[in-house]
Formats: sequence, C-alpha cells, structure tokens
Amino acid sequence: DAVREILEEAADRGETRIGVEAMDLLSAYGIPVPDGAVVDSPDEARAVAERIDGDVVMKVVSPDILHKSDIGGVRVGVPDDEVAATYDDLVQRARTYQPDAHIIGVQVQEMLDLDAGVETIVGINRDPQFGPLVLFGLGGIFVEVLEDTTVRVAPLSEREASEMIDDVQAAPLLRGARGRDPVEESAVVETIGRLSQLATDFPAILELDVNPLVATPDGATAVDVRLTID
Ligand code: ADP
Ligand code: MG
Repeated sequence: DAVREILEEAADRGETRIGVEAMDLLSAYGIPVPDGAVVDSPDEARAVAERIDGDVVMKVVSPDILHKSDIGGVRVGVPDDEVAATYDDLVQRARTYQPDAHIIGVQVQEMLDLDAGVETIVGINRDPQFGPLVLFGLGGIFVEVLEDTTVRVAPLSEREASEMIDDVQAAPLLRGARGRDPVEESAVVETIGRLSQLATDFPAILELDVNPLVATPDGATAVDVRLTID
C-alpha cells in the first residue's frame, strides 16, 4: 500500500526525515490535501502551476531543511509567470543555507484562503511508556509561541478526539469568535482520528506533524507534513 511504499523508499535512501514529498501518505488515510505536486525542474513547476487555478504556493523540498519558511523556502501567492524564476530562487536559497543539502525539488501547491481558516496542528509521537500519542493545538507560526496544545494516547475514540478541541484555549477561535464563521469541527475531529489510526498502524513512524492543518467552515486541509521514521 501507499504508506508502506513511501516509508520504504525513504528508508532505502537512508533517510529518516520525510517532508511534503509524503503528502500522498496523508491522502492514503483520507486526509484532504491541496492540489499540487513535487517537481524537480522550473518547466515542470510551470506546468503544475498552469493546471492549478490562481496563484500558487511554492516550497523547497529537502530532508535537510526542517523549517522551510525559516530559510525563505516558502513563497505564497506566486503568479504563473513567476513560477520558473521562483523555482530557481528557492533552490538557490536552500543551497546558500546548506551547500551539501539534498534537494529533492520544489512543491507547487494550490493556495488556500487563510483568512477564512484557522491554522491548527495535529501531531503524533511515541512515548516509551504510553506508546503512540496524538497532539492537537493551534498551529502555524504560533505553535511554539503560544504552546496551546493538548495530548492523548492513541488509538483515540471519536469522543476523545472531539474533547481535544474543547481542551485548547483557541477553541473559541474555531467556534466562531468575533463574528467569524465557525470551522467544520467534525472535519478536524476526523483528521485527528485518522492520524491516530496511522500512528497505530505504523510503529515505524516515530513522529509526525501536520502543521498547519487549515480548518475552515468547509473542512480541514493538511498543508504541510513532516515525519521521522526509524
Ligand atoms: P514550514 O512549516 O516548513 O515553514 P509550511 O508549508 O507550513 O512550511 O508553510 C509555512 C506557512 O506558509 C504556513 O504555516 C501557512 O501560513 C503558509 N502556507 C503554506 N502553504 C500554504 C498554502 N497552500 N496556502 C496558503 N498558505 C500556505
Ligand atoms: Mg509547517
């Protein structure tokens, strides 16, 4: 199956860290992801961007670069006619940051409307005593600053997953504070449940973060993923 294949390919390359090249792993578990692809040339990048409506988001893809935006490796709102040049620029930035980095290529992704959504994080990791743990909280760039997260032991019941939303201080933000439309909470609960299942099914996944999972009134979409395997 798709997940096993992605994990084996990374292991064959001797890699223990996997990034957005593993978006298919999320799709395989029924988690919605934006339209997009990882490509390894400016021409291919342009072809993907032309297939996607509107401006795109482009991200450098490298197992050696954990936080892409920290090195200027994420560009939001790229118009079609700047895609090829942005490809070269992103690769150049990565090389400057780390000359020996293994650069897989660049991800070209549909741009989501973040004004209509809330960035959340869903993570899994393993505790030597309790086994697989699932984490949920406010995501995006705020995750380290606000530390508004909650943790449960997997596998989770649907009830436990929805209790995680009650737990976080950001819950009112998800439920329509200040005249915002409430996000589709059931879609967030569903994603927490599916990642809990993934953690249970694949002990080789030591750690996995979906950050952000963008929650909107219409659903929840995983925009970024990073995992560590043994
Ligand atoms: P990293 O966490 O490695 O810096 P991300 O893929 O999470 O990279 O991108 C960083 C930020 O850029 C996200 O938290 C989000 O705010 C924004 N972003 C990323 N992808 C998209 C997208 N497809 N649509 C809209 N905003 C995005
Ligand atoms: Mg991220």
